[in-house]
Amino acid sequence: MNTNVENIEISGIRKFSNKVSQVEGALSLTLGQPDFKTPGFIKKAMIDSIENDKTTYTSNAGIVELRQEISNYLKTFNINFSTEDVCITVGGSEGLYAAFQGVLNPGDVILVPDPSYPAYKAIGTIIGANVIEYKLNKEFLIDIEDLKGKIKKFNPKAMVLSYPSNPTGAVMTKELRDNLYKILKDEKLYIITDEIYASVCYEDNYYSVCQYEDLVERCIYISGFSKMFSLTGLRIGYICCKNKLLNEIMKVHQYNVSCAPSVAQYGALKGLTHCLNDVEIMKEEFKKRRDFVYSRLKEIGFQVNMPKGAFYIFPKIPKENISSNDFCVDLLNKEKVACVPGSAFGTSGEGFMRISYCYSMEELKKALNHIEDYLRKN
Ligand code: PMP
Repeated sequence: MNTNVENIEISGIRKFSNKVSQVEGALSLTLGQPDFKTPGFIKKAMIDSIENDKTTYTSNAGIVELRQEISNYLKTFNINFSTEDVCITVGGSEGLYAAFQGVLNPGDVILVPDPSYPAYKAIGTIIGANVIEYKLNKEFLIDIEDLKGKIKKFNPKAMVLSYPSNPTGAVMTKELRDNLYKILKDEKLYIITDEIYASVCYEDNYYSVCQYEDLVERCIYISGFSKMFSLTGLRIGYICCKNKLLNEIMKVHQYNVSCAPSVAQYGALKGLTHCLNDVEIMKEEFKKRRDFVYSRLKEIGFQVNMPKGAFYIFPKIPKENISSNDFCVDLLNKEKVACVPGSAFGTSGEGFMRISYCYSMEELKKALNHIEDYLRKN
């Protein structure tokens, strides 16, 4: 076997959901799958595309109409990528893989946040890169001094930014964006910025390092429609970067998947032209649930940051001397509520747990009552 592959484990989130499936009647708050139906226009567009035999390969980069709409959509976030800068991928996942593979040689250093979405570390390890974690502060924003030190010490080829964040719900602030600009403008490193939750940002303004014209040349923007349109199974996402970079990354994409699924591309196209209102409705609902879960957790006695985006909350476990895994397993066994142990997201996730609020208010209410009972009894 490939030793790099042998060196990684299956994701801690998956491991934990396997445990949950063994507990009958468990209330699971583990999934990053919105509980909304895919908007009707998207479904209809996909059915039409099948009936009109649009089931062949598309160009490697994807259908031009969708690339054009993505370029327009990103302008609403003050991010400028042209149609030619966009490649449609098989979910954000394939976009991440193609970006890592396209940019990194074995042994190259890539900086990733800790805690963060587990794929960054896993993909880096699979392709033989040297993955170094950088620290986040109490608000789960980047510890700038730590980042500066790591850039100086390790001379990284690339770094990952991940806001709005899975698992913490933190979003990029103006101050952080501007500080990052100051640090990164004179460096050469590539910036892989995973903004798959951009459509679920509860703040009035959205910030991204791609908004700086002189940084965007080195940025690789990863996003997708899984969360935005609630269609995780359709496997459709995208990657944006400037010409030379995209040409190289596209080679990885081409030899890996040829193109993203044609039918899903037509669905996403309809989504961008007709379903942005559905996205707003989902966001409003997530916001209500966020407010509820946050205030209940506070009431119960958790130390927790108010999430500003995505649909996760990352409270500190209010118990000493127990690992986050043991806490979550015990909670699952005794109260039949499943939350993902923070350690699944990196060393600094230890002591926390991730709650996804992609669940109905009724389920959330029940689950939080059980969590309260658990803490009272144990
Ligand atoms: N990035 C982050 C931060 C995610 O949470 C996810 C999915 N959980 C992805 C990328 C990949 O999503 P997909 O492949 O479904 O687009």
